[in-house]
Formats: sequence, structure tokens, C-alpha cells
Amino acid sequence: MRPTYLEVNLNQLKQNLANIRARVAPAKVLVILKANAYGHGVDGVAPFIAPFADYIGVAIVEEGIHLRKMGIATPILVMGGTLPEQIPDFLEFDLTLAASSLELLESAERYCATAKKRIRAHLKIDTGMERIGVREYEAEALIEKSLSCKHVEIEGIFTHFANSEVMSLRAPAKQSSAKISPLALTSPSLQLERFEEVLSIYEKRSEPHPHLRHAANSGATLLMPESYYDMVRPGVLFYGVYPARNIEKTIEVKTALTWRSKVAYSKVTRSGRGVSYGSLWRSEAESRIATIPCGYADGYFRGMTNKARVVINGKKYPQAGRICMDQFMADAGVDEIKVGDDVILLGGGITPEDLADWAGTNEYEVMTNISARVPRVFT
Ligand SMILES: *Cc1c(COP(=O)(O)O)cnc(C)c1O
Repeated sequence: MRPTYLEVNLNQLKQNLANIRARVAPAKVLVILKANAYGHGVDGVAPFIAPFADYIGVAIVEEGIHLRKMGIATPILVMGGTLPEQIPDFLEFDLTLAASSLELLESAERYCATAKKRIRAHLKIDTGMERIGVREYEAEALIEKSLSCKHVEIEGIFTHFANSEVMSLRAPAKQSSAKISPLALTSPSLQLERFEEVLSIYEKRSEPHPHLRHAANSGATLLMPESYYDMVRPGVLFYGVYPARNIEKTIEVKTALTWRSKVAYSKVTRSGRGVSYGSLWRSEAESRIATIPCGYADGYFRGMTNKARVVINGKKYPQAGRICMDQFMADAGVDEIKVGDDVILLGGGITPEDLADWAGTNEYEVMTNISARVPRVFT
């Protein structure tokens, strides 16, 4: 196997889930397996974790199909936008549709009526993301329609927060829409109020609620018990990473990833010789340069050039010179480094937060960017 690989500690993921569950019970937990399980490798994570999940969330229908083809039998919600022509896939693979528009709901009803089949759906309410979903002020028509659909079973209703991880928005005074400054962040409490408005339409109709009402992503799972309803949808938190640096850590989780490699080449570079493309790094004295067989095509961001650090033989060293597509160098100074020595790119004291800072991005992108060329090893 390739010396550069990603080690995934499945038991840690299970522990993270157990800790989340302990906090949110009796609410159910939807485990998010989109984007290759946030880069962890869905083929290893899904079979291991599915028995402990109440529901699984994916972004696109293709991810749901992949899980079904693996034999995963847990209910799967496709949370993202769906095109009408993808509706047959939901029937064939028993996937739950996010009914995010009147048109999509109508298409689903029409298709299922013709096919004489039923589809499960969760109504998607847009309370402030302005991404997909029907706004709270137009939700009544969606609900009316949903009540007349004979072939669509409305099992759930949900919304998604734009700023649930922002500590400064914690427990603000109740704001009414009229008083909000155009520059203010859309607060999760405002979004929750809007969601409540929609839920109350059901109450007025004296119809029962869809039995799965859900809203909480990781930030809200940590900070807003009032948003748990019947189910929570923590993504990054399940993977052991907090959605913001200063967030109150009301649930303990740990990352499950160790990104490993081995030194592929080791040389002493003479003082003043530029290292790598663009000669962006030069040593001031003779220096040990270790070459590591991993590059930006593996998801080791080029933007971390001259900023990242790596652990070699248990000690941290600065990355040196332009990160290439398939390799990068590190400056080990006067230390002895041999071909085959152990390297850690993530883990061993290097956190997803560190990589995010060096790359100028967030932890989500760091994890989901680790490419398919990096084998996943599940422990
Ligand atoms: C990705 C996603 C989540 C999880 O978000 P985190 O910030 O990782 O917790 C929850 N709900 C929806 C609809 C999503 O797309």
C-alpha cells in the first residue's frame, strides 16, 4: 500500500456519536455521511456506524445510491437540492426526499401516482440560509399541497441554521424581523422563531406534526437544546471537530484522523540553494531536507506553502518551499532523517484547525479535501 494514507479510528467516531446521543436524548441522531463521510471514507465509516444511527444524511442522491449499493438499510435523507428527473432514483433505492419546493413536491406526487408507488419526504423550510427550501412566509402553500399528496408520505420537516456556531449570537433578546439591521447575522433564534411559525401551521390544521422535526447542525447541537425537536443533524461534531474555535464544548468529541506518510528522500541542501518551484524557500545554512510523497493532488493544500508543519519521528518541522502536486519538502535542520522515517501530516499534535489556519480555510474543507488517492485505513 501507498506510504501516504489516512488512518481512521472508527471507535472514536462511535464514541463521539455516543456522547452526542447522551446529550440530545430522547432526540434521535441523523449521522451525516455526505462528502465521503467528511473525507473519512464512507466505505469504511458507513457499515460500521449505520447500526448506531437513527437516520443517515447525505447531500446528493448519488451518495444515497452508493450507500444502498453497499447494503446500508438505515433510512437515508438526501438533504440537498434534487432535480425532478432524479425522483425515480429515490423510489428505486428507498431514499427520503428533501421536498424543497412546491414544484419538486408536485413532481414527486405526479411520478409516484403514475408509478403507483410511495415516496418518503421531509419538507425543507428555508428560515434564513437562502439556499434551498421554501421560506416560512410561503410555507403554507407547501404544507397545503403536502396534505393533498396521496403518494408522498411527509415523514419530517426541517430547516438549517446559517450561524448556529457563532457564540456572540447566543441567547440574544427576541428580535423581530423589522428591527434587524441589514448587516446583522441571521441569528439561530430568529430562524427558530420562523420555523416555529411553520410548525404552528400544522397545529392550526389540526393535522399531526410530521413526526421528525429537525433543525440542529453541530453548532445548534452544542448550544441550543431548544432546537433538538425529534432529531439532530451534527456533521463535523460527529467527526470530532468543533464548528467554531471559541464555541462552548458542551459535548466532548475528538478527531478520528491521523494522516500518515513516510520520508521518501532525504538530503542535505547547501546554504542558499532554493527549494522547489519558484525557489520560495532557501536555507541560510546547510540543512536536512526531507521529501514527503504527498502533495496538493492528495489534498495537502498548495496554499500551506512555507506555513505548514509536519511531524517526523515525533518532532515538528516546518514545511519548506512550494508544495508540489505529489510531493513536498520539510526542513529538518541539523537532525538526522532517513528514507522510510515516519511522518504525520495531521494528528500527533497537528490538528485540523492548524491545517485550516495554514491553508486559510476551515476544518470542513481540510477534511473533505483529502483526495481519493489517499488510501483510508480503518482501525
Ligand atoms: C452538512 C449539513 C449538516 C451538518 O453540518 P455541520 O456544520 O457539519 O454540523 C446539517 N444539515 C444539513 C442540511 C447539512 O447540509
